[in-house]
Amino acid sequence: MIELQKGPEPEVLSKNAATWTSVVLEKIAKGEDPTATEKSHYRHHEIKDALKSETFKKCAYCESIFLHTGFGHVEHITPKSSKPELSFKWENLTLACEVCNINKGKKEVIDPYETNPDDHFTFEGPVIIPKPGSDLAFMSETTLKLNRSELIEYRKNRKNDLYYLVEALRKSTSEEKREAIAKIISEKISKNAEYSAMMSHHARIYI
Ligand SMILES: [Zn+2]
Repeated sequence: MIELQKGPEPEVLSKNAATWTSVVLEKIAKGEDPTATEKSHYRHHEIKDALKSETFKKCAYCESIFLHTGFGHVEHITPKSSKPELSFKWENLTLACEVCNINKGKKEVIDPYETNPDDHFTFEGPVIIPKPGSDLAFMSETTLKLNRSELIEYRKNRKNDLYYLVEALRKSTSEEKREAIAKIISEKISKNAEYSAMMSHHARIYI
């Protein structure tokens, strides 16, 4: 998980959020169920595109790049079931992979826009470790299952790639080759890359 910054609110949301919210809240107040369309305006492509941009096209929680195999879920940081008034609130929306979205359910986890995850998590190999004393990190790791076996496997492979790149950088005597390897390393630890929190942690140890 990495710290994220909210981008500008998409126009479709700033123009319509108040109306969309009133329709949903009025129906709930009358004891009626809002229709599927009324509840899901947040899936608008402009909103999703803006969220892709600010999340580097990754899950806001596990940092997997999942858009090549799935559509991704527009995620309500505070669940819309408990706070329907936040259904179309820009600051309450992000992007999550299907697994994290389902695992989170109605529970509270670290909001990477409000809290820097670096202050709450560290790594041992590919395993995410909640820092001692951070109950929020512990709850987030267990709720989202940030150490599920598939993630450990993916992160282990990325970490091994990094290790061998650093080894190659050390051993190379060609300046040209060293520059090329350094460029690859910097791409692998950038925020655009999968699991960049873990990768930059290990880069600090290896280099
Ligand atoms: Zn995820």
